[in-house]
Amino acid sequence: MFQKILIANRGEIACRVIDTARRLGVATVAVYSEADAGARHVAMADEAVAIGGPAPKDSYLRGEAIIAAALATGAQAIHPGYGFLSENPEFVDAIEAAGLTFIGPSGDAIRAMGLKDAAKALMSRAGVPVVPGYHGDNQDPEHLAGAADAVGYPVLIKAVAGGGGKGMRRVDRPEEFAAALASAQGEATTAFGNPAVLIEKYVEKPRHIEVQVFGDGTRAVHLFERDCSLQRRHQKVIEEAPAPGMTPEMRAAMGQAAVRAAEAIGYSGAGTVEFIVDASDGLRPDRFWFMEMNTRLQVEHPVTEAITGVDLVEWQLRVASGERLPARQEDLTIKGHAFEARLYAEDVPAGFLPATGRLAHLRFGPGARIETGVRPGDAISPWYDPMIAKVITHAPTRAAALNALARALDETQVAGTTTNIGFLAALARHPGFALGDVDTGLIARDLESLTAEGATPPAARALAVIAAAGLHQGTGSGFTLWAPLSRPVPFDPPARIAVTGPGRVTVTLEDSTHDCALHPDGWWVDGAKTGAAFHIGADEITVFLRGAHRFARIDPLARAAKGGASGLTLAPMPGLVKAVFVAAGAEVAAGTPLAILEAMKMEHTLLAERAGTVAEVLAAPGDQVEAGAALIRLTEEEAA
Ligand code: ADP
Ligand code: ADP
Ligand code: MG
Repeated sequence: MFQKILIANRGEIACRVIDTARRLGVATVAVYSEADAGARHVAMADEAVAIGGPAPKDSYLRGEAIIAAALATGAQAIHPGYGFLSENPEFVDAIEAAGLTFIGPSGDAIRAMGLKDAAKALMSRAGVPVVPGYHGDNQDPEHLAGAADAVGYPVLIKAVAGGGGKGMRRVDRPEEFAAALASAQGEATTAFGNPAVLIEKYVEKPRHIEVQVFGDGTRAVHLFERDCSLQRRHQKVIEEAPAPGMTPEMRAAMGQAAVRAAEAIGYSGAGTVEFIVDASDGLRPDRFWFMEMNTRLQVEHPVTEAITGVDLVEWQLRVASGERLPARQEDLTIKGHAFEARLYAEDVPAGFLPATGRLAHLRFGPGARIETGVRPGDAISPWYDPMIAKVITHAPTRAAALNALARALDETQVAGTTTNIGFLAALARHPGFALGDVDTGLIARDLESLTAEGATPPAARALAVIAAAGLHQGTGSGFTLWAPLSRPVPFDPPARIAVTGPGRVTVTLEDSTHDCALHPDGWWVDGAKTGAAFHIGADEITVFLRGAHRFARIDPLARAAKGGASGLTLAPMPGLVKAVFVAAGAEVAAGTPLAILEAMKMEHTLLAERAGTVAEVLAAPGDQVEAGAALIRLTEEEAA
């Protein structure tokens, strides 16, 4: 076993690796960017080395700086986490050239799986079923259109260098093919610098089922499957293991195919073989096809750990340090069922826009394993993936594990940023999901009901009024100053409060009146225990009562400060300016594309709000900008 390792990553995955290393007596070195000097992973590690500026290209993507940090601190091996350099074969080669060990597969194994077309050709030779389609070199649009006809519509156009759901277009009719191809190629060029695409049969009622594999360079075993069909825009939201409805025959067939894939490339370490499954007729052993292999530890690996009892990071360290595979296939069994929900700082109703903010209040619900890279008070910065935590539950049955997930989400309290908790909790209670009737279209089909803001319970509103009156911690001994008068509380809509005894108030809302009492176990409303918690921010009150309920704090002195249509185009979220299409002096019409902003895996085209002349361009391609940053200004509107 190594004595010391360096973790070339940040956030929850860096913390996750440090946890296991510590348990195995292995010392850890963190690396960090300027934005992360105070981050949890830095606090947890035994040593930490600064490697540059906040933008990933200036720090977490600087392989040479990371290798230098490992050499300087005497670390023997480097764990890449996921994302960043984890699937970069040149990084692996450079680590080995420096005499260090990469905790993961060989550079050649990563190369073999790096491009989807080459990987599919390789897998097909190894006898692994691949999605029917065209994955050849001829990129002539006519030829690709012909290939689509041969495959049969609907088809999926995919960037061969793709990842994170980018560069993918579903096409239903031949007459839509040319436009979809051009747009997929455009996105692939911007995102991956490689316009090449492949054509695949679009699988109906698709389920994403992937198999966790683990190799020692010669032999491989599988640790069963995960179902990742709950997706939005081809990105995973809630994952589970095992897959609902899986049959022993199909599990055996998929497991064998995945092991064959891993052994075909002499795979070492943890990897995932992703399959697309046609579930239009239940799960059948002849209806799954290889999509791609992710040559790293996967975000959702904890659900596999939960059902197998294996610590995959421990296996990674053991195998990378020269041990053989820690278990034989027949030693591995499935125990119970597990779910993982990805908790993000994001604005779901606004189209899952990434959000930022300081986590003024952060408390996780009981009964779940939490993987997180942040602590209360930490910031979700615009620089990185806005993940707050992964919430993982495990129970003897699927229904019990799903209940536990819903409860853990209900009782997770986050204030200071907007989150997807309510959306995740609604998903955890979706009737079709509860039945195991999942496919990758579920979220899109039911988006409206999943993102509907539930009515605020009157009890939460009454408690918010108590907080607005400053009485949430009790009325104290001075309550007689209040009693028994009913007073107005600055609140929207207006409310009144009357103190009726020590720790006892009556709140009058617009159309109801509530008797509220502070007991040793918290506030009771109308005789019922609430278990509610509060966060009082500068301009917001959050009441946590089966979900977060946010209320604006009304400052009676504040006046509206918002200006009219200013001709300013602002960044709607933190992100990277990918392109600016106009220069000062340009005449634009309403709706003219002005710039493209990329925020974590999504590109947003910013359009001119009105017609006018560009007065100033305040951002350049490559700039990282905060939400609300002014990007482009039009000249003042002429009086008509
Ligand atoms: P998984 O199947 O493990 O979720 P993803 O392709 O979603 O794999 O990516 C895993 C991780 O890699 C993400 O959580 C993120 O940290 C990183 N990542 C992937 N694509 C991008 C991207 N375009 N920009 C930034 N980070 C990315
Ligand atoms: P990425 O590298 O972006 O993860 P994948 O090839 O793994 O790309 O596909 C991502 C997602 O797109 C899958 O999880 C699935 O939801 C959907 N998908 C991919 N291929 C197909 C297909 N042939 N038919 C239907 N859906 C597909
Ligand atoms: Mg994938």
